[in-house]
Amino acid sequence: MTRFALLPGDGIGREVTVEVEKVLAFFVRHGLPFKWKKYDFCADAWLDTGSILSDETFSELKDFDAIFLGAFGDPRIPDSRHAREVVLRLRFDLDLYVNLRPIKLLADNLTALKGRKRADIDFIIVRENTEGVYVGSGGFLRKGTPHEVACQEAIATRMGVDRILRYAFHLAEKRDSHRLVMADKHNALKYVSDLWFRAFEEIAPSWESVQARHLFVDNLCCQLILDPSAFDVIVTGNLFGDIVSDLGAGLVGGLGVVPSANLNPETGIGVFEPAHGSAPDIAGKGIANPVAALLSAAMMLDFAGFPDEAESLKGAVEEVIAAGQTTRDLGGELGTSEVGDAVIRYLEKLAP
Ligand code: NAD
Ligand code: MN
Repeated sequence: MTRFALLPGDGIGREVTVEVEKVLAFFVRHGLPFKWKKYDFCADAWLDTGSILSDETFSELKDFDAIFLGAFGDPRIPDSRHAREVVLRLRFDLDLYVNLRPIKLLADNLTALKGRKRADIDFIIVRENTEGVYVGSGGFLRKGTPHEVACQEAIATRMGVDRILRYAFHLAEKRDSHRLVMADKHNALKYVSDLWFRAFEEIAPSWESVQARHLFVDNLCCQLILDPSAFDVIVTGNLFGDIVSDLGAGLVGGLGVVPSANLNPETGIGVFEPAHGSAPDIAGKGIANPVAALLSAAMMLDFAGFPDEAESLKGAVEEVIAAGQTTRDLGGELGTSEVGDAVIRYLEKLAP
């Protein structure tokens, strides 16, 4: 039996997770040994009780084969404390140091870039997921006064940088083009990015089959727009990876289509989630695009040892998009659940 934990979270996270459940149920109908349990951690629960993820539940989560997250975020909790309790705890306590965000154009008409075709945009961002400015180190002085001081520290460890670089080089070696770009900002960030650059320079020569180059992250943003076809694997730090992946999403139709995986390749634990957030502006309207969530589920199936099912799911999503059966963000007219239903119909067609 393969067991998945589903954490729908808040806002549209809840709506897109329903579509993921439909897909899992489809596979169960076709004989696959999937079981899943839903955990209703969300802003409402946090506002009621002040806490949502107990130590006991946290260790229960570790026993699943994979975890799926919808999205966390609620305007009533502006500092996202409840989200940190779940999303960041999973990331940090499970040491999920690899955040993978594949940026792939699924249909020519989805990109705003003039003249670009599907084959032009297909790269993957390998974002370091446990260090950088997201470690929560810093503080205030004289908070709330005109003389307030705020400081936020970025952390890089040689171990942390070496392991994400190694992962990215491995991945570049496995992918067709064998191209890798490492992006940092060592011209301005003299400590953290300096460590990144030195580690990169030391590691790169030992990967003869990989064509590796360095770009400053600001220039990377410019080059990605000018010629996305020049990129295959992009490895970068936590903050830059977060920003560059939303830029990538903008190249392929928006946040509604970009999946992601959080992995620790050594312990074999994986958490899968769409790259988007809880989208309070459209939550509850039934119009959220479920594609990012469904593609995240495909990554989860692949990770859990079901590559054929992952391929069929990706195939079905691509067919649905090609047929224009999409939500409004992609120019269509369907609602969230109608897109999910269309994906199931294509899966039925593909099924033996
Ligand atoms: P967001 O991704 O929620 O939304 C950004 C914009 O993209 C919005 O206009 C939204 O309507 C649109 N959008 C996003 N996903 C969509 C989808 N599936 N279909 C159609 N349109 C979609 O980012 P935000 O507005 O910056 O943040 C909202 C909340 O989500 C915040 O509380 C933030 O902290 C949280 N957030 C959580 C995660 C996560 O759980 N991993 C990630 C990013 C943001
Ligand atoms: Mn983000």
